Amino acid sequence: SPMTVRSLAEAMGRPARDLITIMFKHGEMVTINDALDDEMALEIAMELGVDLTIEPEEDFEDAITEILERSDADFGIDLVARPPIVTVLGHVDHGKTTLVDRIRSSNVVDGEAGGITQHIAAYQVGHNGQKVTFVDTPGHAAFGEMRARGANVTDMVVLVVAADDGVMPQTVECISHAKAAGVPIVVAMNKCDLPDINEQRILTELSQHGILPSEWGGDVEVVRVSALQGTGIDDLLETLLLTAELQEFRTVDSIPADGVCLEGFMDEGRGPLAWALVRRGTLRIGDNICCGTSFGRVRAMYDDAGREIQEAGPSTPVKIAGLDQVPSAGSRFLVMDDIEQAREVAELREARGRSAVLAQRGGPVSLEDFFKHRDGMIQDLPLIIKADTPGSIEAIRSELGKFTHDEVKLKILHEGVGGVNESDVYLAASSGAIVIAFHVIAEDRAEALAAQEGIQIRRYKIIYNVTDDIRQAMEGLLKPER
Ligand code: GDP
Repeated sequence: SPMTVRSLAEAMGRPARDLITIMFKHGEMVTINDALDDEMALEIAMELGVDLTIEPEEDFEDAITEILERSDADFGIDLVARPPIVTVLGHVDHGKTTLVDRIRSSNVVDGEAGGITQHIAAYQVGHNGQKVTFVDTPGHAAFGEMRARGANVTDMVVLVVAADDGVMPQTVECISHAKAAGVPIVVAMNKCDLPDINEQRILTELSQHGILPSEWGGDVEVVRVSALQGTGIDDLLETLLLTAELQEFRTVDSIPADGVCLEGFMDEGRGPLAWALVRRGTLRIGDNICCGTSFGRVRAMYDDAGREIQEAGPSTPVKIAGLDQVPSAGSRFLVMDDIEQAREVAELREARGRSAVLAQRGGPVSLEDFFKHRDGMIQDLPLIIKADTPGSIEAIRSELGKFTHDEVKLKILHEGVGGVNESDVYLAASSGAIVIAFHVIAEDRAEALAAQEGIQIRRYKIIYNVTDDIRQAMEGLLKPER
């Protein structure tokens, strides 16, 4: 926020009128709320005999945000097609790992299957002369965490549903995350090799959770696969590429790169390494980058098969060597003009710590704050509801349904039976949602995470208190909970 006459007076412990008088002598007519520039402030301090040092207002973070948020069209150069970036999500044991391994080993670009056992955070597969980039996130909580860090890398989600088990609680969480991210879903109905599969039951359950299969007139493709036997994999890739074609993923490639760190780790020989995904532009050896709180000159790059490469274009997974420290997952990287600039950015972020993370996301999420920042337009208030029984959820839903208001619409992002978990907190963090816990508490790790992320978990025992609080918050009458 800019320095004002008032804030400077307070900082110097002098009455504001003394400052105003001095400025008047300099020919400046100001009031107590007017902004001051650094030069004027120093002049005033000198005349008042006060020692004043002004920390330079660092606005590089704004500049970086401006660059990262610039639309591709703004560059005024031709857009090129880029491979879609796909994340595989699903309930535990439904076959994600098996599917991902199967896709990778049967379709690695150039047929090179070497090093298949080594862990990689992302890889590309080829299909009919086109490429698909797969991000191998460890579960949907990690998917939510990436988004909470501002790293929306995924274009499409493959939702794995085991045909013998159907839609399970984590499947529903995955659906909520994908929907909140606004990305298309392709369902991989897995384990279709098993006998006595009831496909209609799976399709029904999917429909009940807002996933309407195309064979039933909806917009979601459901592909039958067996990750174990390798059947349906080509079909799945084909469907992903068709879906991508409709979305027309394009970007610019002849600008300095920016992208996202998917995973950072320490290598004994090569020092800090980052598995990153280039979002747009081209990353080259020798580029100076900052990545979260780390920085460095790109010394070497490796592709998903472990081969050294000189440059990496849009949607390319790349392992980067040359950073000063291990960057955290979800950090965005950007090529800077010079190494000093990159260092400065990294160091200031380090100093700002958590507040920088929260600031990047637009601050903590609480019911009180939501209405403070309302700007008179109709706004969605996103909610995540966790409760003790399906009956409670129904009751809350019906109570919330009675809530009508000209300016605010309640929007349930996710609902589920059980305690508040990490997936809920990351979903809240990435979508600005409030978590309502009805007759349930938060799991320990979720509680700690919520504190760290500035997420509010509101606990209730009486249903109408939920809507009461929302009304009170709207009037600005809600007393802060903590
Ligand atoms: P994840 O937890 O979702 O990553 O699931 P995994 O890939 O680890 O698979 C869980 C279990 O299901 C393993 O025992 C797999 O062998 C088995 N599995 C995975 N895919 C299939 C499949 O297509 N058919 C059958 N019958 N079993 C499968």
